[in-house]
Amino acid sequence: MVDLSYPLEQDARVRILTPDSPEALPLYRHSTAHLLAAAVTNLFPGTQCGIGPATDEGFFYDFVVARPFVPEDLEAIEKKMRELAQQDLPYERQMWPREEAKRFFGSRGELLKVQLIDEKTEGQSEVSCYTIKDPETFVDFCVGPHVPSTGRLKAFKLLSTSQAYWKGDAHNQPMQRVYGTAFLSDKDLQEHLRRIEEAKKRDHRKIGRDQKLFMHHAWAPGATFWLPKGTVLYNTLADYMRGVLIPAGYEEVKAPIVFNKGLWETSGHWQHYRQNMFLVDHENEQMGLKAMNCPGHMLIFDSEVRSYKDLPIRYHEQTPLHRMEASGVLSGLMRVRQFSQDDGHCFVTEAQIGDEVERVLRLVQRVYADFGLKPSMKLSTRPPEYLGTVEQWNHAEAELKRALESVGEDYRIDEGDGAFYGPKIDFDVTDTIGRKWQCATIQLDYQIPERFGLKYIGADNMEHRPVVIHRAIYGSFERFIALLIEHFAGAWPLWLAPVQTVVLPISDRHHDYARQVMERLRAAGVRVELDDRQEKINYKIREAQLQKVPYMLVTGDREAAEGTVAVRSRSAGDLGPRALDAFIHDALEEIQRKDLGGPSPVAEKQTA
Ligand SMILES: [Zn+2]
Ligand SMILES: [Zn+2]
Repeated sequence: MVDLSYPLEQDARVRILTPDSPEALPLYRHSTAHLLAAAVTNLFPGTQCGIGPATDEGFFYDFVVARPFVPEDLEAIEKKMRELAQQDLPYERQMWPREEAKRFFGSRGELLKVQLIDEKTEGQSEVSCYTIKDPETFVDFCVGPHVPSTGRLKAFKLLSTSQAYWKGDAHNQPMQRVYGTAFLSDKDLQEHLRRIEEAKKRDHRKIGRDQKLFMHHAWAPGATFWLPKGTVLYNTLADYMRGVLIPAGYEEVKAPIVFNKGLWETSGHWQHYRQNMFLVDHENEQMGLKAMNCPGHMLIFDSEVRSYKDLPIRYHEQTPLHRMEASGVLSGLMRVRQFSQDDGHCFVTEAQIGDEVERVLRLVQRVYADFGLKPSMKLSTRPPEYLGTVEQWNHAEAELKRALESVGEDYRIDEGDGAFYGPKIDFDVTDTIGRKWQCATIQLDYQIPERFGLKYIGADNMEHRPVVIHRAIYGSFERFIALLIEHFAGAWPLWLAPVQTVVLPISDRHHDYARQVMERLRAAGVRVELDDRQEKINYKIREAQLQKVPYMLVTGDREAAEGTVAVRSRSAGDLGPRALDAFIHDALEEIQRKDLGGPSPVAEKQTA
């Protein structure tokens, strides 16, 4: 990609980027980052500029400034950006002799730019610099390209600031990062801003706090404390997954958490992944906490002589994994150091690859449908550097395609994006407010069976290598729960709700009956709480509504006398009196069906 003003010095095939081109938005956003830097250096002379890339959601720019930015600064900066945009100033590309460029930035005290030129343009005699307006106003070292002029930039907004460090390293110079976003149309921008507002309301960290699902503590950074209600949710998901996998032929295993480094050397993690592992030294033995389940499952497979008649063998494991993440990136349930996966490994013959992948795909479809999520699928194929033979890869890729087609899913192909040890299928989920989450994955592996020397005895009585399929449907529990919290905005369908019903006695004299109701529900297997605080009934209803409890059961004189409960649904409001047995029956059915909510199923039945 080059600027529109780039001189064409010979015949060339040319494609013009238009707003519809997929490359347009990142270019537009990066150009807006320059506009931001121009405005900042204009308003705050002496500011040093770092880097200003486009991101998936917008752009940022890092600055060294005398004091942190305050919200009023952002307003002033954005106003200045609009002024510069209105003047429709060209982004002019100039080729400067490399040494001259370094001297220029050095004389302005822009030592970070000098460093960037040193690192990025070694061996070049000239470097490209871009000016907005004239060199006295704003010059930035950048390879480009950009939009032709600032007048093209119309739909942008600055969003926030945060502390950052040069090159993301806390040992380096502290900087101020300004985040913003830009779109090609104002309509898209407004839509995005609306989504950000909605996302704030749904933030899993906020809802996790409000509903008392989980917490974190400074003494266990990146490791989650699951509080009683969160543990109910977690276990519901764990048991649900067992209920899906065990009938599908999986066996659950529990492998150790700490292994001698010998295992990690065999698996290759010691050579390539050690910096991400928690290491433990004890009695001269070097140990590492497991970051993945695969190596343990290889040892279990290898613990017996296997016949082709035993295959496929499918292991499933939910024990915790540990990966070292920098403390600065830890965030809620999304970036953690300790997590568990619904991890599984299928050991198959080459001939079984297609059928096995198809079985996993059908499980993915079924699980995601139960949560009301629709995954989109992507097949990644042989990269330039790969292990195994071209024939093996062609066979595997053809089988993966056949499996994808036989389950009737649309999928994209990412040519050359597979891992070096095998092709893979990745799944993205788009949530209710249009954000994409990466979850499930199916990954073929020719390498790990080699490393562990795995074999099975074939029909020909000879030894053969199995193929390993790594697969996870949720991905990590932590991340999947974050997705579900934000997807449902904390309004859990009945089958997932940590608290499914709350019993609300109207006054003290209804406590005994309310307690009986609670015990009946509990005995029937409905998750229930009793709110016997001395508060007005309307107050208790409002609280339960804020907690998004699916059903509230109000008990007063009439209910106690008749053995009924006055049912209130979170979504449908007051449903009137109902015999307790009938309510329990319908609630259990709703749980069984895994209804996703919407209009209350109990309510529909009652009005029918
Ligand atoms: Zn640039
Ligand atoms: Zn694995």
